[in-house]
Amino acid sequence: MQYKYLLDEKDMPTHWYNILTDMKKKPPFYRHPATLEELAPPGPPMPPPVFPMALIEQEFSPERYIEIPDEVADVLKMWRPSPVYRAARWEKALDTPAKIYYKWEGVSPPGSHKPNTAVAQAYYAKAEGLEGVATETGAGQWGSALSFATNYFGLKCKIFMVAISFQQKPYRRIAMETWGGSVVPSPSSETNAGRAVLEQDPESPGSLGIAISEALEYAVTHDGYKYSLGSVVNFVLLHQTVIGQEAMKQMEMAGDYPDIVIGCAGGGSNAAGLIFPFMKDKLTGAKPNLRAIFVESTACPSMTRGVYAYDWGDTAKTGPVAKMHTVGHSFIPAPVHAGGLRYHGMAPSICALLDQGQAESRAYHQNEVLSSAVGFARAEGFIVAPETAHAVKAVMDEALACKESGESKVILFNASGHGHFDLAAYDAYFRQDLPDYQLDESRIEVALTELPKIPA
Ligand SMILES: *Cc1c(COP(=O)(O)O)cnc(C)c1O
Repeated sequence: MQYKYLLDEKDMPTHWYNILTDMKKKPPFYRHPATLEELAPPGPPMPPPVFPMALIEQEFSPERYIEIPDEVADVLKMWRPSPVYRAARWEKALDTPAKIYYKWEGVSPPGSHKPNTAVAQAYYAKAEGLEGVATETGAGQWGSALSFATNYFGLKCKIFMVAISFQQKPYRRIAMETWGGSVVPSPSSETNAGRAVLEQDPESPGSLGIAISEALEYAVTHDGYKYSLGSVVNFVLLHQTVIGQEAMKQMEMAGDYPDIVIGCAGGGSNAAGLIFPFMKDKLTGAKPNLRAIFVESTACPSMTRGVYAYDWGDTAKTGPVAKMHTVGHSFIPAPVHAGGLRYHGMAPSICALLDQGQAESRAYHQNEVLSSAVGFARAEGFIVAPETAHAVKAVMDEALACKESGESKVILFNASGHGHFDLAAYDAYFRQDLPDYQLDESRIEVALTELPKIPA
């Protein structure tokens, strides 16, 4: 039995893959946050231009493959290519005829897939002559990744961290500071957006939507700064496609092609990173039966209970409006441990695929998710992040369905990160102190009344 599939450094992908070029029906253009007018290129893509120009060009690029700069590849090679494992011991524990593989992104120094885009974004910010970048972080994974990356390019990094995570996860803050980042809890008193929320609720646990508003405001009000985003937009998903391109080679080494590809989805970047290069085969007709499953938290069920509509990407309505599955920009999800799955929207490209029936979505509660992650850890050894555990649960369900039907399907999932900073979630699970949030439909309904009214 071969347990792992490793690639040489020279086998790292040389290009990122742009799935939009293979989608027959693409997601619609963004809209202006105030006028709601369509922002079709070559007009100004996002008001204000909050990202480095090179990234904005990638966001709207007509190219199928975009070359990875040497300086970016150089840093990625610290841990890439990452391994693919055959979860043989877990298959045995589940007593399933399914073959399970996972791509392990926990090997990066910050411990997740996020530096795949953080390194690229830091590189382009430096190339544009910036002094620093501002960003938000939920559980602290994205902030860690960006602190790690900016450090290599001599850039400053200002991070607004969702207050509840700032309190629950001090170790991530310390990691960010170790790499040189500057971290404040959000809502903060440093921005108008933060002060407005604090006035309403001084004890606000914060949300990704609020933190995004703060980081955006900080970036546009400080010279030499631009904004950096860890998920959702096309260029981030693009940078993550190194995951799936590597995994395709590794599955070839294993002599298998997946029937089902699975990833957990907060804004959708790690799942897309694994899935999009395989989805190319589905969209072009080579693998019409491939199933792609995006897994979210029941506490923030944008794909499974939200609407497919235009919405603002952030709470203060300063960022662009995108068509996506959303539970509303003002929705503040319960403080589940999977902080990275607490975003109200979802990547527009994934939403378009869901809408076109090319992909599936599902949601799970945190106890069932942690339970499956414990089973995974006891079989495979790796303790995964609470976000990743959502994918683990979906894989387990598919593997058990194979046991029922006797089918030996090949399942591949993205193990997006390790859970070494999230052990409190496991602890709460063991102590039976982990709430499953039964989300009231009325909470979503209220948030949805605030969607923008798009002119016909
Ligand atoms: C941030 C994060 C996620 C969720 O973000 P996506 O953009 O949906 O990938 C998932 N897993 C881990 C480990 C993360 O850090």
